[in-house]
Amino acid sequence: MSTFLELGLKEPINKALTDLGYEKPTVIQEKAIPQIITSTDDLKAFAQTGTGKTAAFSLPILELLDEGNSNVQAIILSPTRELAVQIGNNIKDFSKYQKNVKVTTVYGGSSIEDQIRSLKKGSQIVVGTPGRTVDLINRRALKLGNVQWLVLDEADEMLNMGFKEELDKVLEATPETKQTLLFSATFPREVEAIAKNYMTKPVEITSGEKNSGSVNVSHEYYAVTERTRYPALKRIADLNPDIYAIIFCRTRRETQEVADNLIKDGYSADALHGDLSQAQRDSVMGKFRKKTIQILVATDVAARGLDVNELTHVINHKLPDQIENYTHRSGRTGRAGNKGISIVLVNGKEKGKLRVIERIIKQKFIETKVPSGKEIVENQLMNLIDKVQKTEVNESEINEFLPTIYEKLKDLDREALIQKFVSLEFNTMLAYYENAKDLNDLASRDNSRGRSSSENMSRFFINIGRKDKLNPAKLIGLINDQNIGDKIEIGAIDILDTFSFFEVDNNFEDKTLEAFATNQPDFDGRSVNVEITKKDRSGGGGKRRGKKPFGKKDGGFGRRRSSDNSDSGRKRSDRRSERPKNSGDRKSGGFGRRRRER
Ligand code: AMP
Repeated sequence: MSTFLELGLKEPINKALTDLGYEKPTVIQEKAIPQIITSTDDLKAFAQTGTGKTAAFSLPILELLDEGNSNVQAIILSPTRELAVQIGNNIKDFSKYQKNVKVTTVYGGSSIEDQIRSLKKGSQIVVGTPGRTVDLINRRALKLGNVQWLVLDEADEMLNMGFKEELDKVLEATPETKQTLLFSATFPREVEAIAKNYMTKPVEITSGEKNSGSVNVSHEYYAVTERTRYPALKRIADLNPDIYAIIFCRTRRETQEVADNLIKDGYSADALHGDLSQAQRDSVMGKFRKKTIQILVATDVAARGLDVNELTHVINHKLPDQIENYTHRSGRTGRAGNKGISIVLVNGKEKGKLRVIERIIKQKFIETKVPSGKEIVENQLMNLIDKVQKTEVNESEINEFLPTIYEKLKDLDREALIQKFVSLEFNTMLAYYENAKDLNDLASRDNSRGRSSSENMSRFFINIGRKDKLNPAKLIGLINDQNIGDKIEIGAIDILDTFSFFEVDNNFEDKTLEAFATNQPDFDGRSVNVEITKKDRSGGGGKRRGKKPFGKKDGGFGRRRSSDNSDSGRKRSDRRSERPKNSGDRKSGGFGRRRRER
């Protein structure tokens, strides 16, 4: 293992890294830094977040940069504002002993005038999101004619988010002679196309196996039905009192619902998604970073910019629509040498997707049973005993109370005393999980009864596709243009060559059909036709079926037997009554829940 100096970096950079506590380079740094310093060849790097990729591309640029020249020499594109800010800040930290190096970060949702002013002062390095970067190029505030390095960070995410045109534009605004450095966790066809069209014989490096998950992450799945999904989630949290996790959801609504339910049930949780204002998102992320909240429920996009290294778990409440995104999600745990667990909750239909993921991550999923009430109680109890063992006694503060306490408890021997103290917590736990159903059993009975999952989403066929230059962003725009409803929730989108599929929530099924039929929109001169489809069992493309008569779908689980002790499907307000009577102290740190002031 080399040192940073041996990789060819100068002393001011090495000193800054020492200040940051970087002792030795990571694998990707060891490969990328000397490669970029010694060669002008383009570079294709397979690297996930958490591998140290930011330093891998920034440090050689800082090494080679002409500090005396204030032209933009490096442009770094990243998919989200949060990630761009993080990269900008990292570079400022790395260059703290290179006084003439200036970095400007540009992104949407913030004053463009301030960013223009900062660019005018001269910055050798610009970090930006694709949209704002193009905006600044168009306004001639950002001049890329002297660029030597173009970095595409998380290229797969940028393309997923529909930034293909912006990338093309930036690539065209930079000189032929530049060196392009492309970093991506996955290499789907679209990323390969960028590499093929815009890079010349790129050198390939990898931080591990291509597209593979981190070796520090174990992958587990729990079989659930829609009825047991939420109770299973709670039991996983209860089994792990020190959980520090992101729960990934596919839509904003699902995210908010799961977070609301967890909060109501006394968990230390919050939601992060695009419906929140930037200030709200910053506040939630700040609390999660500080561990004021233990569980963050988030959409893929909103969680992008969050940089935390100690996650114990990543939980896929539902699998991502784009299966490659599983690598991004699971790569958020098992970072910086820590071990992590990536959990997937799957119903019968979703299970097939696990095989596809196993091929991508080159690891097998471990089937794990939803813990029983008894297991949770046992685990919580042992956790409590461990805590008692580790608790330090504050003698100076407690001494004055001890004589009275000893006097009160003088008739109890050691065993009786332990039993009473432990029972104090144990009775609460026991009451909560008394009569708790076996969720694995419930799930298998639901499946054997052939109940389908209530997916809440209707799937539509649309007769335009990639060949018509359709991308997810344009399709969302087209759907929104039909004025179907303010609250319409758009789910999975599959763009194929000549046609595509999209999902909207069930409540808007009829309105969507009606709106497209009435408006008869066209897309790039082609008249648009939208039809309802029936999902096939694999959850893939879908078969079209005849137009359904207007009216509500009966997707749910129907009425429940009152003796059923699982809680999914009940009205939210009913859930409060599930807490054990003596658990009034739950929110302040009863078992399985974390004190909020932590
Ligand atoms: P990245 O993959 O660039 O998002 O980096 C992941 C995390 O690892 C960040 O918190 C970095 O500060 C940290 N990191 C990157 N390189 C090193 C290193 N060589 N030694 C220790 N920590 C590092």
